[in-house]
Amino acid sequence: LSWAISNQKLKMTTYSIGVDLGGTNLRIAAVDEQAQLLEKVTLGTQVTLGRDRVMDDMGAAIRRIADKYERKASLAGIGIGVPGIIDMQTGMLRESPNLPGWADYPVRAEIEKRLGTRVILENDANAAALGEKWLGAGRDFDDMAMITLGTGVGGGLILGGRIWHGMTGMAGEFGHIAVEPEGHPCGCGSRGCAEQYASATAVVRMAREAIATGGASGLLRTTSSDPEFSAKAVYNLAIQGDEAAKEIFRGVGRALGIVLAALVNGLNLPIYVIGGGVASAWEAFSPSMFAELQQRSMVYAAAAPPVPAVGAREASAQLEPRRSGKTIITRALLGTDAGLYGAARLALQGG
Ligand SMILES: [Zn+2]
Repeated sequence: LSWAISNQKLKMTTYSIGVDLGGTNLRIAAVDEQAQLLEKVTLGTQVTLGRDRVMDDMGAAIRRIADKYERKASLAGIGIGVPGIIDMQTGMLRESPNLPGWADYPVRAEIEKRLGTRVILENDANAAALGEKWLGAGRDFDDMAMITLGTGVGGGLILGGRIWHGMTGMAGEFGHIAVEPEGHPCGCGSRGCAEQYASATAVVRMAREAIATGGASGLLRTTSSDPEFSAKAVYNLAIQGDEAAKEIFRGVGRALGIVLAALVNGLNLPIYVIGGGVASAWEAFSPSMFAELQQRSMVYAAAAPPVPAVGAREASAQLEPRRSGKTIITRALLGTDAGLYGAARLALQGG
C-alpha cells in the first residue's frame, strides 16, 4: 500500500498559484508545470475596502484553491504580482500609486501569516514580462524586455529566462526614461518621463491639452474619469480619422521610439514586447514608434526586420527574423493574463 501511495505521489503534477493584485481587481490562477490553466478566479474585492480586507480575501481564496488540489497535485509555491515598488529583501511594499494606503506595508509577511507558507512577491510589470517570456511573445527567447502601457508605464527585463532585478530590485523602470528633458513633471520627481507621454493617463491629459488649445471638438466627448477607458475613446477617434486624436498617438509612438532606442542601443536584445491596455492602440502609434526608433538607434537600423509588422495577427510572422538575427519589436500576446501567468511561473521557478 505504501508503495502505491508513493508511486501515486511521484505521478502527481506540480502546480503553482499566481496572484495579480491590481488596483481594481484581484485575480488568482492555478497553473501546472506544462502551463495548463487549472483554475482562474477573479475576486471582486475593492481596494477601497482597505488592505486588511483585501489581504483576508486573497488569503482565503488562495487557501480554497490549495485545498481543492491538495490530493491531485503538488503545490510548488505562490507568486504574487503587486503594482508598485517592492523591497525584495523585506517583502515590503514601499510605494504604490494604485494601492493608496499600502505604503510601507509588509505584504509578504502579512500574506505568509494568513497562509502559513512562503510566498514570492514581485512587481507586476516584472511578472507580466516573465509571463510573456514563458507563454507569450517572448516564448522562443531567453532575453527580452517588456514595456507595459497602462495607467502608468511599467517595464520588465528578462535575462537568461529570469527577471533581472538589479541591485535593489528596482531594475526595469523603463517608464521613467526621459523622452523630453524639460517635459511634463512626473510622479517620480523627474520631468518628461515616458510615462508622461505613453500611458493611458498621459493620453487623457494630452487630449485635455488639445481641447484647451481649441480645434479638437471630437476629443471633447472623450473626457471621463477612468484613464484606461478614456484612452480607448481617444483611440477610437484616432482610427475614425480624427486628426487631433491621431496626433496624440503619434506622440505616444515617438515617446516609445525614444525609449526603445535607448533600450536597443544599451542592451541589444533580440526582442522587445509592448503590452498593457494602451498597446491595443498599436495601429495608431506603431508607425511613428518605428520611424523614431529607426532614426535614433544605429543598433536597430543595423538589425531591423525589413518591414515592421502592424497588428496582432502579424505578431507570429514577425517572430521569423530571429533566425537572421533581427531585432523584434512586437505586441504582447497574453493581455491582462501576462502578470497572472508570470506570478505563477515565478513560484514554479522558485523566485
Ligand atoms: Zn518619472
